[in-house]
Amino acid sequence: MASVALKSFTALRRSTSDPPHFTTQPLTLPHQQQRFRVSASRTSPKLSDRNLRVAVIGGGPAGGSAAETLAKNGIETYLIERKLDNCKPCGGAIPLCMVGEFDLPLDIIDRKVTKMKMISPSNIAVDIGQTLKPHEYIGMVRREVLDAYLRERAEKNGASVINGLFLKMDFPRNNKEPYVLYYTEYDNKKGGMGEKRRLEVDAVIGADGANSRVAKSINAGDYDYAIAFQERVRIPDEKMIYYENLAEMYVGDDVSPDFYGWVFPKCDHVAVGTGTVTHKGDIKKFQLATRNRAKDKILGGKIIRVEAHPIPEHPRPRRLSGRVALVGDAAGYVTKCSGEGIYFAAKSGRMCAEAIVEGSEQGKRLIDEGDLRKYLEKWDKTYWPTYKVLDVLQKIFYRSNPAREAFVEMCADEYVQKMTFDSYLYKKVVPGNPLDDLKLAVNTIGSLVRANALRKEMEKLRV
Ligand SMILES: Cc1cc2nc3c(=O)[nH]c(=O)nc-3n(C[C@H](O)[C@H](O)[C@H](O)COP(=O)(O)OP(=O)(O)OC[C@H]3O[C@@H](n4cnc5c(N)ncnc54)[C@H](O)[C@@H]3O)c2cc1C
Repeated sequence: MASVALKSFTALRRSTSDPPHFTTQPLTLPHQQQRFRVSASRTSPKLSDRNLRVAVIGGGPAGGSAAETLAKNGIETYLIERKLDNCKPCGGAIPLCMVGEFDLPLDIIDRKVTKMKMISPSNIAVDIGQTLKPHEYIGMVRREVLDAYLRERAEKNGASVINGLFLKMDFPRNNKEPYVLYYTEYDNKKGGMGEKRRLEVDAVIGADGANSRVAKSINAGDYDYAIAFQERVRIPDEKMIYYENLAEMYVGDDVSPDFYGWVFPKCDHVAVGTGTVTHKGDIKKFQLATRNRAKDKILGGKIIRVEAHPIPEHPRPRRLSGRVALVGDAAGYVTKCSGEGIYFAAKSGRMCAEAIVEGSEQGKRLIDEGDLRKYLEKWDKTYWPTYKVLDVLQKIFYRSNPAREAFVEMCADEYVQKMTFDSYLYKKVVPGNPLDDLKLAVNTIGSLVRANALRKEMEKLRV
C-alpha cells in the first residue's frame, strides 16, 4: 500500500491522450507497440443453437469477477478452481473503491484501517491517515472469505463452478474450433485423486495466479517476481486494541532491500510479512527483522500460520493469444513498490469479461483475438501511469536507508498524505494543487539531497 506521492507532479500531468501499452515488454513506449494492434472485427461467426462458452481458470479475485460478469451477460461460463477453501497468502488490504465498485458486503471486511504508521530504518514513525474523511478507510479482508464470496456470487449468477485442477489444453486449428481443456475434478464427498475430465470451450481466461498454467500453455513468457513471506500471529486481546484500525509499514535494509515489511490487522490476529525481489534467499532473515521491529507490539503472540508466495513484478511479455487472455497475477498486474494486486486482479477479470460480452454480442457470436485485445488496450490506457509512477518511486526511495528516511520524512507532509491516500483509495487521477505540487517537489528534492549527503557520510564511516 505504499504511496503514490510522486504522482501529483509526474505521471498525473501526462499530456498525451494515448498512453503507452505494455503488451510485449513491461513499460515500453507507444511507438514500439503500435504494430501489435489488431482492430476488432464483427466477421466472427454467429452462434445459432447455443451461446458462447468461456472457461475461467482460477477462482481468486480475478477469476471470480470475470466469471460473474460473463455469467450475468449470457455467456455459458465455467469457473475451474483447484481449492475451494483456498487461503491465498496475502496481506488482504483493499482500497475503498473496491468495496463500492464490486458491491462487497461490509461483513466480509475484517477491519477498517484509518491510521497507518510508516516506520523508517531508524524507527522514526510517521502517522499517515490524518487527511482521511470520516467514511474513508482501507479494507482488510481474509482471502478465503473474499474469494469464496466472489465465486459464490458468480455461481448465483449462473456460472458453473468446478472444483478441479486445470492440467492442459489443446488448441483449435481454425477460428471456429473449440479449445479442449483437461482437468482433474475433485469430489469433496468421495475425496481421493479425482476424475480426469475434458471440456470444450470457445475462449479461455487465465486467472490462475502467479504460477499460471494457462500462461505457460500460450508461451506467455516469464516475469521477475518478488517472494513474499507472511506469518499470521494471534496476539493478546489487549495488544490487538492497538491494531484495531491501524496498519504498520516498516522500511529499511533489515526488513527488505527493495520492499517493505508490514503488520496488517485481521479479525482476531495480525498478518506480519515482508518481500524481496533481489535477495530471495534471505527472506526468512527479513521476516525475523520485521517481527523484531514490531516485537513490543506483538509480544506474547502465537504464530498460527506461515505462508509464502511469489508476487509478479511486471506484466508478462504476452498476455493474449488467439481466444485466450490472462488477467490478475497470471498477467502480472501487481504494482511495484506497494505489492498491491487484489483490486487490479478483480478489475482486469471484469474488464476482460466485458470485452468478451461486447465482442460476442452477449454470447451470440464467436469472438476473436481482436475482441480480447480491446481489454488490453483499455487496461493499459487506464493503469499504465500508476504502474510507471510506482516503478519510479521504488527506484528512488527504496535504494538505501538514507533514501528511505527521506521517504518517511516526506510522508509527514499532509499534502503528500492526501495525494497518496486519494490515489490508493480511489485508483483515480486526483488533480493536484499547482502550488502544493511545487512545494512538494522542492521538499522532495530537499529530502533527497539530505539523503544523498547522509549516504555519503555513512559510506565514509564504513571506509
Ligand atoms: C504475502 C502476500 C501479501 C500480499 N498482500 C496484498 C495486499 O495486502 N493487498 C493487495 O492488494 N495485494 C496483496 N498481494 C497480492 C495479491 O495477493 C494478488 O495480487 C492477488 O491474489 C491476485 O489475484 P488473482 O485472482 O489474480 O490470483 P490468485 O489470488 O493467486 O488466485 C488464483 C487462483 O487460481 C487457482 N489455481 C491456480 N492454478 C490452478 C489450476 N491449475 N487449476 C485450477 N485452479 C488453479 C488458485 O487456487 C487460486 O485460487 C499479496 C501477495 C502476497 C504473496
